[in-house]
Amino acid sequence: DLQGKHQASAIYEHSYRERKSLQLETEQWIRQAIARDWLVPYLQPLVDFDTCTIRGYEVLTRIEHPQRGLISPGQYIKIAEKTGLIVPLTEVLIEKAIKIAQSPELNQQHQDPFRLSINISAKQFHQRSLPSQLAKQLKSANIDPHRIKVELTESDVMENIDAAVGIIENFQSYGIKVALDDFGTGYSSLAYLRQLPLDIIKLDRSIVSGVTENERQSAIVEMILLLAKRINMQVIVEGIETSHEYHYLRKLGASWGQGYLFAKPLPQSEIITKIPAIVKQ
Ligand code: C2E
Ligand code: CA
Ligand code: CA
Ligand code: CA
Repeated sequence: DLQGKHQASAIYEHSYRERKSLQLETEQWIRQAIARDWLVPYLQPLVDFDTCTIRGYEVLTRIEHPQRGLISPGQYIKIAEKTGLIVPLTEVLIEKAIKIAQSPELNQQHQDPFRLSINISAKQFHQRSLPSQLAKQLKSANIDPHRIKVELTESDVMENIDAAVGIIENFQSYGIKVALDDFGTGYSSLAYLRQLPLDIIKLDRSIVSGVTENERQSAIVEMILLLAKRINMQVIVEGIETSHEYHYLRKLGASWGQGYLFAKPLPQSEIITKIPAIVKQ
């Protein structure tokens, strides 16, 4: 009926307008974050299981809004992509990542040069100058490109395989490693291993959690680890939350991981460089 229709469209318009204004507000925050230096790289340790050491960090970006507090990437990355602001945002981040890589304190606390990984959005695959730009910045900062890794998300890569192959090879030609993020969340994850010249895959938390209770899940993870070993691809297991998961994954053959068990993403001032003793037992 007509009244029902009116009501429905009123509700629709209402929520549409709300969404629109939230989007505009977020866009404003991103612009301000870039202009006023509110972008903060949080760092999550990458753990080498064999030596029980922290070998690097993933850069996970937050906006520290002076009034609103911490704004997480889930809230703004999509909008940054849609508006093109992801390009200047990534530029700022790369500058900040380079400073972190150079940090004398952090370097002093690591035996080997620690690595950093940076998330790159698919919206930047067409930005052909990105790999050479990054390489140039690393060179002038005197940072070995082998210390830097870029992470591309599986669902993004799926949308444009050819562009993805191009950018992956381009990064690699400068010695920058490429990881496929969120591996195992798509429909044809195995096909990517064949099509993409990757260095690293990151096993998504969704196929890792439950691994200790679910026989099937556990068999799948074990199979991926074996397969990766055979084709010389490094696997990083994401989202390890309990020591039970950690020990179980080690038994399955995992040797690299990240997760709240070791540390949450933290600002540089709070970063840890050794894994908590309790984890090693
Ligand atoms: P991601 O790259 O898959 O990062 C992993 C996410 O899982 C992070 O969320 C991290 O905080 C969270 N995480 C880490 N360990 C655990 C754990 O043990 N348990 C659970 N439940 N979660 C864990 P975050 O920081 O909110 O980032 C969300 C996504 O936003 C990232 O997913 C990444 O795709 C994107 N992102 C973050 N920073 C950037 C950036 O600078 N540029 C771009 N393009 N994307 C970014
Ligand atoms: Ca990532
Ligand atoms: Ca991931
Ligand atoms: Ca993710």
